[in-house]
Amino acid sequence: MSIADEIFTLFENQGDSAYYGEPVSQTEHALQAAFLAETDGATDSLVLAALLHDVGHLLHGLGEHIAEEGVDTHHEELSQTWLSQHFGPDITEPVRLHVAAKRYLCAVDPDYLNQLSPASVQSLHLQGGPFSSKEVEEFASLAHFHGAVQLRRWDDQAKASGLEVPPLEHYRARLEAALGAQRTSIDLVRKN
Ligand code: FE
Repeated sequence: MSIADEIFTLFENQGDSAYYGEPVSQTEHALQAAFLAETDGATDSLVLAALLHDVGHLLHGLGEHIAEEGVDTHHEELSQTWLSQHFGPDITEPVRLHVAAKRYLCAVDPDYLNQLSPASVQSLHLQGGPFSSKEVEEFASLAHFHGAVQLRRWDDQAKASGLEVPPLEHYRARLEAALGAQRTSIDLVRKN
């Protein structure tokens, strides 16, 4: 099975569960995030990062109410570790940083904290709460800071019940191009 098919199968088999206290499934959430990125004119890497940012939730198999039970699954790290097998940092870094981006935005933007959904506020506390000013500074100096913040904003909006968006197949060509590019760069490193 190709990696693209493996990813689609993961969504088909695990993606119907609810997205942590929100009125959308995991798959709907991923498709809405990717479509918001595309609509905003994001790069292909960021569109794919938006599609795949919560793949860790599909992998950990810990059930849908895990945050209510006071458990932080560190899904961003799980997502990044899994995605790093197949994709480069333009995709994996915004994914790894998308929870940190929430802690960043809560520290710098008071309106942001006020508009978070109750489930997102609950997980914020498990994730360590808003960043300190030192953490804000460190985060803003990271190479993928902008991508991570953009991804976070799409992530927060991708919770609309019943929204019609393109299906997984819409992203296949971009997914395969990114997988191919990553294989080529791995081959080049091996040859050198
Ligand atoms: Fe998400």
